[in-house]
Amino acid sequence: MVRSFFLYSCLAVVILLCGLVQSAFAVDIYAVRVGAHPDKTRIVIELSGTPSCKITHAQNPPRIILDVKNATWQGQAIDLPRKSGIIANIRQQSSETSHRIILQTKQAAAVSKQFYLPANGGANSRYVIDLVSKESKASSAATEEVTPPSRPQKRKYVVVIDPGHGGKDPGAIGKAGTYEKDITLRVGLELRDALVRTGRYEVHLTRSTDVFIPLRDRTRFAHKKNAALFISLHADSAPSQMADGLSVYTLSETASDKEAALLAAKENKADLISGINFQGENKEVSSILIDLVQRETMNMSARFATELVRELSQRVVVREKTHRFAGFMVLKAPDTPAALLEMGYISNPREEYQLRQSQYRARIVAGIVAATNSFFNANTVR
Ligand code: ZN
Repeated sequence: MVRSFFLYSCLAVVILLCGLVQSAFAVDIYAVRVGAHPDKTRIVIELSGTPSCKITHAQNPPRIILDVKNATWQGQAIDLPRKSGIIANIRQQSSETSHRIILQTKQAAAVSKQFYLPANGGANSRYVIDLVSKESKASSAATEEVTPPSRPQKRKYVVVIDPGHGGKDPGAIGKAGTYEKDITLRVGLELRDALVRTGRYEVHLTRSTDVFIPLRDRTRFAHKKNAALFISLHADSAPSQMADGLSVYTLSETASDKEAALLAAKENKADLISGINFQGENKEVSSILIDLVQRETMNMSARFATELVRELSQRVVVREKTHRFAGFMVLKAPDTPAALLEMGYISNPREEYQLRQSQYRARIVAGIVAATNSFFNANTVR
């Protein structure tokens, strides 16, 4: 699958083919972002699918020219950030057959690394190019990228619902004898039906019966199903019967950084992120890739949480500062946007009663469906 070409010539111009599978499919380019790092300048091109492109180095002034075949620019004007690293200027030209991005550099630059990240969750595909100044290139061996098979477009979004607890683990138990595991399963099934009714989602449940499932297996299941969104359902308990309100959790940055480091150190890292082949990548590159994907995932999770809070606070009582960050195990899949919902306090007799009422659960379900819709709308319409 991977074909890389390095055609060096004695001329001032060096042509480097991306080595991507020649794609007949047209792609849309949504954005070009520049990030300055101490050791490199990273260009991230967001697009709708696998690109086929050519990189040309030119001089006077030094520039790197990206020709993306069959591409149409759908983005805004590119604003160079204040810290734009080695990039002096970016210009674009569109033609019938390709879109050209011209990266004028402050000094002669070389591509130290390039890779492709397939569309994941609600995020676009990304083509990432790292540039270093020519002088420092000696220390950075060029790493060729890997092209995953492109996925069919226009598929339904895969949502995995995770009803918390189950089987031998009842979760919290209310004063009236309500088990958390029963409420989470009930809401899970009702949420599945509501999401399926929209016609937009392919929905899977980590459990649809009263069984015990280890936490790791729940995230593994979501990964296997290629979930674009993971929703874990719980109902909290607190020592005080007065504690009430719904809350939303997503993964915290610190927790996930540690996790990323751990994940990168593990041998089975190839399984972690769909569509990226870590084989032949050194440890550092693997951890950069995991980190990149995980950051994006975390941002998306936070966006989903914002939608959840907005929709649910119009329908039920939510806690103050209801969006919280935590290191829940089920939220730690690096490539799946995820949120954990504590639908209320089962230890609060009023909320225990409410959670047993189908009308009340329907309000929660409607809020989650509305939030899911806006989450995917925001992620696909740019
Ligand atoms: Zn729970």
